Amino acid sequence: MTNVAQLQQPRPEVACQKCENTVFDGLVIKQVTVIRLLPHAAQGKCKRCKTWVDLPMQYKT
Ligand SMILES: [Zn+2]
Repeated sequence: MTNVAQLQQPRPEVACQKCENTVFDGLVIKQVTVIRLLPHAAQGKCKRCKTWVDLPMQYKT
């Protein structure tokens, strides 16, 4: 048996701390105007209240 299903589990949802707008629904980033990359993480700017929200993902160059 393989463990593919376990490896493809969706990530936890992320909501804006300020307005509770869902910026990441476990699969896709949404409701953000800008995404910025930091050395260790990524952040998205909430579409509603313009707060930077940490996103649970990393980008590889
Ligand atoms: Zn917000």
